[in-house]
This record gives sequence, C-alpha cells and structure tokens, in this order.
Amino acid sequence: MNIKLERHTSLASLLSAALSAAEEGPVFYLAGGTDLMVQKDMLPAGTWLDISDIPDLHGIRQQKDCIIIGSGVSHHEIMRSPLLKKHAPALVQASSNVGGPQVRSRGTIGGNLGNASPAADTVPALYSLRAVLNLISSEGERSVPVDEFALRPRRTVLKPGEIIHSVSIPIREGIQGFWHSIVQRNSLAISKINIGFSYVLKAENSQAFDYVGVAFGSVGPTVLRAKKTEEFLLAEPLTPQRLEEACLVAQSEVTPIADIRSTAEYRKAMARVLMHEALEPLFK
Ligand SMILES: Cc1cc2nc3c(=O)[nH]c(=O)nc-3n(C[C@H](O)[C@H](O)[C@H](O)COP(=O)(O)OP(=O)(O)OC[C@H]3O[C@@H](n4cnc5c(N)ncnc54)[C@H](O)[C@@H]3O)c2cc1C
Repeated sequence: MNIKLERHTSLASLLSAALSAAEEGPVFYLAGGTDLMVQKDMLPAGTWLDISDIPDLHGIRQQKDCIIIGSGVSHHEIMRSPLLKKHAPALVQASSNVGGPQVRSRGTIGGNLGNASPAADTVPALYSLRAVLNLISSEGERSVPVDEFALRPRRTVLKPGEIIHSVSIPIREGIQGFWHSIVQRNSLAISKINIGFSYVLKAENSQAFDYVGVAFGSVGPTVLRAKKTEEFLLAEPLTPQRLEEACLVAQSEVTPIADIRSTAEYRKAMARVLMHEALEPLFK
C-alpha cells in the first residue's frame, strides 16, 4: 500500500498538516502504532501522521476538578500513575490488562479510543467514569462525552483534520472501581466481553451508592452503557437479593451478537457473571 508518512513534533504543525492531508484522502494518526501496524495492509492508501513525539499530547495532570490524560499517554504510564490509581481505578485495571508489556509501553489511550473497537479494553472503564474527550483541530476545540465518540467499529465523530487531544476524568471523592474481561486465554487475546464499573458509596462499608457507572464492551457495535443497571443500583441500598436482581438487569440490557470469539448466549450469560464479580466485594 502507498503510505505517505510525516512526523510532527508540534501540535500546531500537526493540526495544519492534518487538515491539508484530509482534503487529499484518508489520514491516520500514528501514536503507538500497535493497531495501525497490524492493520496496515488492509487500510486504504493515505497519509500517516506520526504524533508520538508531540509534547502537548503527553502527561497526566490534575486541573481543577478533573484529571486530564494526554491522548499520547501509554497504558504503562496509566498503570503507574498515582493520580489515576486514586481517581480512576477501573481505568488503571483496564490498562494493566492490555496486551503484554511491549504493547502497554507503546499503545496509547488515544489509539485505543481512535481505533473505535467495541472490544477496546479501556473504553468501558472510561464510560463508567463518565470521561469526556477533548478534541482539537486547526479550526477549534470541542468536548464530547466518551459514550458519544464511537459510532460503530472504526467510525468515530472525529471530523477531517481533528484529533483526540486529551481525556478528562471528573474527580469523585471516594471513587472505587472494577474492570474485568473474559478472554480465550490469559493474555494477548481480545475480550469476548468486558466490564467497567465505577462507584462511590454513601458511607464507608455501606451498600448504598452515591454514584454508579456500568458499561460492557464487545456486546454491540460500540461499548454499551448499562443505564438501567446503574438506575437499579442507585435506587436502593444493595442487599444479597438486590445483587442477584442487578445481575439479571445487566444481563437483560446487553444484546450481543455471535462472532468468531463467542456466541451471543455466552456473552449474555457472562454479563451477569461479570456484574456479580463486580458487586460481590461489597459484601466482603
Ligand atoms: C499483540 C497485541 C495485543 C493487544 N492487546 C490488546 C488488549 O488486550 N486490549 C486492547 O484494548 N487492545 C489491545 N491491542 C490493541 C492496541 O494495542 C490498543 O488499542 C492500543 O491502545 C492502540 O494504541 P496505539 O497508540 O498503538 O494506536 P495506533 O495504532 O497508533 O492508532 C490506532 C488508531 O487510533 C487512531 N489514533 C491514534 N491516536 C489518535 C488521536 N490522538 N486522535 C485520534 N485518533 C487517533 C489512529 O488513526 C488509528 O486509527 C493489542 C494489540 C496488539 C498488537
């Protein structure tokens, strides 16, 4: 395939190049390259813009009541970040489970989102945290809630010349999290189904929620926010009986398809099992 590769080291030059390149044909952003290099023989000819060395796209910092993660931050950096361990534990668990050490060192959060796979491991965690994506082009900036970003596999709301600049995670004091996936083997496998669950309890050791976010990946064309399950969990304190009922609500919310990795029935059954695993620690 015919690739025109350009490397940019400043955001301004990248954005201007991205807009001009988009007028000529497809544009791909080379961050860690762990998705793009695998896909390269299947992609159309186009311009690849190397964004791996743009300082504005790196770093994890607190800004007022949010944690801002640059789109070029790797899974390895997310795993090690004290700020994210405190304010986004579900995301830390998700990034810790991406690929192997090499993939975690190169692969970025922006690439995991930009690839728009419904099986992407960080995305259910980001849904559960109500993350917001900060998008930028040479024509301006805008923010999009993470659950409005992917339209279907490999399609997002990004406009020509626009990139993900960073991810904002609202700070919620006392947030706890859970992320888990069901895979064919222990590592280097795509999830059959995964869950991101973030919550704040009304009081320590209580079973009443102040905040709940639940999302499942690999159960549809995009990650699914389990709104009915969230409402059920918020409505009343959790009891052992309500825990079982919540798992059934979660199971009823997912409408997966069968594909090469799993049957639809198995995925539906596993939505219940994953919800159970997420809620069980509240009674320990
Ligand atoms: C062996 C192996 C194992 C893997 N295991 C997992 C796994 O367990 N879980 C998982 O979720 N993924 C896994 N992946 C997929 C991949 O590693 C992740 O999706 C990773 O986060 C991609 O990041 P990247 O920086 O390498 O993206 P790249 O390959 O550089 O880019 C991917 C896509 O995102 C777009 N993009 C990149 N950055 C931006 C941006 N800032 N703005 C807009 N668009 C952007 C690119 O145009 C491209 O379409 C695996 C891949 C391999 C090769």
